[in-house]
Amino acid sequence: MQRVRRAVGLTKLDAAQRSCIICKQCLPAANMLRLIVDSQGQVWPDLLHKMDGRGAYLCMSEQCLSSCSDKRLQVLKRDFTIVLPQWEVVRERMIDVLDRHLERSFSRVRRSAATGRDAVMHRLWNNAPVLLLLATDAGEAITRQVQDAAEKREQAGLTYTLMLVVDRNWLGRMLGRDQVAVAALDSSAMIEKLKQYCVWFGRMKVSG
Ligand SMILES: [Zn+2]
Repeated sequence: MQRVRRAVGLTKLDAAQRSCIICKQCLPAANMLRLIVDSQGQVWPDLLHKMDGRGAYLCMSEQCLSSCSDKRLQVLKRDFTIVLPQWEVVRERMIDVLDRHLERSFSRVRRSAATGRDAVMHRLWNNAPVLLLLATDAGEAITRQVQDAAEKREQAGLTYTLMLVVDRNWLGRMLGRDQVAVAALDSSAMIEKLKQYCVWFGRMKVSG
């Protein structure tokens, strides 16, 4: 009996869909950014979906982020009392919360990460699924070398995910070093979430 109830609970959680305040598309809530409005009418990002109160959801697609504005936030007035304008501040809060959360998450995987070209090239021959993080300013030589090695890996039937991240300074800071052009992390459930937050962070920084 208990097992059945737990299974139902899980299904419900996974299936929860919310509509994006900008594009209105319905998507799994777990893949969206939750926003909450406090009693002062300020909007806060709730990255971990844990803050009290009713939330609004943002799909975090490139399109929705680049078209988000105070005018677009007006839609929140239907359900909440909010202060406008505040999109620029909300945007800063989103960047800030993502950055801090990523730093914390990365600090947990730092020790097992392969950093730098040689370590990454070596890691690419290990069979375990891997997440490759490549800085947009890694330089042409490293970028080509890593991409070639990743392609060879794929031809050998091994999976990988390649993701471009903001820059070497940022990746270095996340991994507790000066600058890191490329890094490889073992795939896991936590890494999947981290990957999503990296994508969001990149879009926030780029759209600025
Ligand atoms: Zn959207």
